[in-house]
Amino acid sequence: MKVLVVGGAGYIGSHTTYELIRAGHEVVVLDNLATGNIKSIHPSARFFWGDIRRKSDITRVLQAEAQAGKPFDVAMHFAAKLIVPESLSQPLAYYENNVEGLRTMLEALVDCDVRNIVFSSTAAVYGAPESSICSEGDPTVPINPYGESKLACEKMIEWVAAAHDLNYCILRYFNVAGADASLEIGLDKDQLTHLIPVLMQASLGIREQLYIYGNDYDTPDGTCIRDYVHVTDLAQAHVLGAEYILGKQASLRANLGSGTGFSVKEVVDAAAKLFEVPFSYAPRRAGDPPKLIASIEHAQEVLGWKPQLDLRAILESDYNFRKKLLER
Ligand code: UDP
Repeated sequence: MKVLVVGGAGYIGSHTTYELIRAGHEVVVLDNLATGNIKSIHPSARFFWGDIRRKSDITRVLQAEAQAGKPFDVAMHFAAKLIVPESLSQPLAYYENNVEGLRTMLEALVDCDVRNIVFSSTAAVYGAPESSICSEGDPTVPINPYGESKLACEKMIEWVAAAHDLNYCILRYFNVAGADASLEIGLDKDQLTHLIPVLMQASLGIREQLYIYGNDYDTPDGTCIRDYVHVTDLAQAHVLGAEYILGKQASLRANLGSGTGFSVKEVVDAAAKLFEVPFSYAPRRAGDPPKLIASIEHAQEVLGWKPQLDLRAILESDYNFRKKLLER
């Protein structure tokens, strides 16, 4: 396959690029480097600077490759803003970047006859679900602008697919963490907010401590429950998803998680067996649902995908990646 990875300098885009290349596929990365890092782009991938909110940046790459006689088979979209608290304070930036960015990209894909798209969505589309395990057919009632923007994107893709004969693979991520086994790439950003990297920074003395946001949720230990999936497993699901929609000329929407929930306190306890973790409790963070766990049966059945790496592997790889960053 020849794949355009939009946002391939970011965390999940760079890991997916690595897995695509390991699986023998050709990758071109388009990224505006707003949050991505040029060093995270696999050396075998070709890179173009571009912003998905500017249609000409995308069509330029699509047309050049088509004119060279090798058009893209699939485009993957990773170029999104994804921080829940930030989305609550800057909702318009989320609609602009996530929704308008995708709209522009879809227009370019349709114009240039690229008919297969893999799209990063999120468990945040489920909101604060009644049932403890989320299945793809469950109600989607987001409780923050991030989830709303991704749900709007999913719906846009479905309508565009129906009108323009597009195949899509929408993947709803649960909590993605960890780093590639090479430790060449990982989650490398200035302002980290996600639990596992923040926890590791506390362990490594980069920040004083981890604050656990809320211990009065309706869960066994009072802290929020999430489903953590290793970024390498997740990236491999993208390769399978792209191969599936291209090969079968069909669409799918699937959750990607581990199928198991861990509370924040359980994650801290698991990490504390490996490293020291200074932490204390703090008030709840706005926009956090108490419990999100994936049903991953659909991805297993349709893609034959099964996560291979557990919470310990996630914690160790993130720790080792962050330690390596300090040594650079
Ligand atoms: N969390 C926390 N302290 C932190 C960061 C996150 O207690 O410094 C909690 C957060 O409140 C949530 C869970 O960890 O219950 C996962 O949050 P994260 O930001 O990693 O991912 P999200 O589920 O919001 O996408």
